[in-house]
Amino acid sequence: MSSGANSNPPKVGIVSLGCPKALVDSERILTKLHAEGYEISGTYEGADAVIVNTCGFLDSAKQESLEAIGDALAQNGRVIVTGCMGADETAIRSAYPDVLAVSGPHQYEAVVEAVHDAVPPAHDPFQDLVPPEGLHLTPRHYAYLKISEGCNHHCSFCIIPSLRGRLQSRPVHHVLSEAERLANAGVRELLVISQDTSAYGVDLKHESRCWKGGEIRTHMTDMASALGDLGIWVRLHYVYPYPHVDDVIPLMADGKILPYLDIPFQHASPRVLKAMKRPADHERILERIASWRDVCPDITVRSTFIVGFPGETEDDFSFLLQWLEEARLDRVGCFKYEHVDGAAANALPGAVDPDIMDERWERLMETQHRISTEKMQAKIGRILDVIIDDVTEDGAIGRTQGDAPEIDGTVTIAGAPDLEPGDIVLVNITDAGDYDLAGTIVT
Ligand code: SF4
Repeated sequence: MSSGANSNPPKVGIVSLGCPKALVDSERILTKLHAEGYEISGTYEGADAVIVNTCGFLDSAKQESLEAIGDALAQNGRVIVTGCMGADETAIRSAYPDVLAVSGPHQYEAVVEAVHDAVPPAHDPFQDLVPPEGLHLTPRHYAYLKISEGCNHHCSFCIIPSLRGRLQSRPVHHVLSEAERLANAGVRELLVISQDTSAYGVDLKHESRCWKGGEIRTHMTDMASALGDLGIWVRLHYVYPYPHVDDVIPLMADGKILPYLDIPFQHASPRVLKAMKRPADHERILERIASWRDVCPDITVRSTFIVGFPGETEDDFSFLLQWLEEARLDRVGCFKYEHVDGAAANALPGAVDPDIMDERWERLMETQHRISTEKMQAKIGRILDVIIDDVTEDGAIGRTQGDAPEIDGTVTIAGAPDLEPGDIVLVNITDAGDYDLAGTIVT
């Protein structure tokens, strides 16, 4: 990557930790820096400064962030810290007083300013350095599309609202323009992300904006429908089960967006959900999942759960296991409860013994493992659309419409010549593991 403006353009390295939302922040910072003539370095060595975009969601993530800052200081020495953990500047400076600057999440300008101070730009205004779709850290064929920042809820285990503030939705025409640019640049799959995708536009009172000669509301359903017109895969993440979620299921059944819903339920026991202060109506969820499957039989429902939340009893946990047996979700992640500095849940009584927490985690994973294996087996003999992520000497690795990159399963395709990442092909599923599939191209 060369600016062409200067034989020695300034170089900046970046380490991006945490969730896809943080990745999008990193991409924005890089896009801005690249536009100013900076070269982006893949290594610490040779970089004039290094940005560490930290994650502060869990204590383990904070530890990882501190280690990354330490590594960058040891290997480069000129380190700019940003991201969720940057909101706690004292913690960072007490561990590493020599960092050049610290800023919190979403503070692109502060990061760019800190880079200017560390290593001034060598800008050539006559060069257009940035491709119109911006710079991306994901492979070229898929991209994250961030539609809002912040959250209006107060889940007792979460400090994101205090780190990132209240919900701020991007105007819908900006989101759609970005999506269109990405599609024009060759992106074949968009992953819609936010803290709370179903709340999109609430802060803007779902105002209408002009788009393609018509009007469109700043609302999840309208946005999803317009994204579906781009003719590429569109996947919705972090959707909470508000009633209007039912309205996007027909879009999935019609093939406009992928039949995939990532809904972080976190628990099923009403008592625990109340203590978690979870948003949205969790009653009748099993009935609603059944009705979604009636409308769109191929829908994949992914979720995450927390076991060992303070006050969780054996009855609550059994309720969750029974619920999972009935819900038969397609993809499930499970976390053991962790104290997070500043979270309201820390003050709750009834801490769960770590051994009991481990045991509940094992039981939940065993239950889901069985369900997942059965679901994977049921796919043998089906012909499915698969997007190619990687081409190897022996064949290719791809994903079905029910698999998000990085978090879900894969499809291994033997002997598939002439494929490229981003190709979407029909695959005859011939074998299934616990979470992954294998098959052959349909010619
Ligand atoms: S919905 Fe709850 S868990 Fe999700 S970001 Fe908001 S407060 Fe945190």
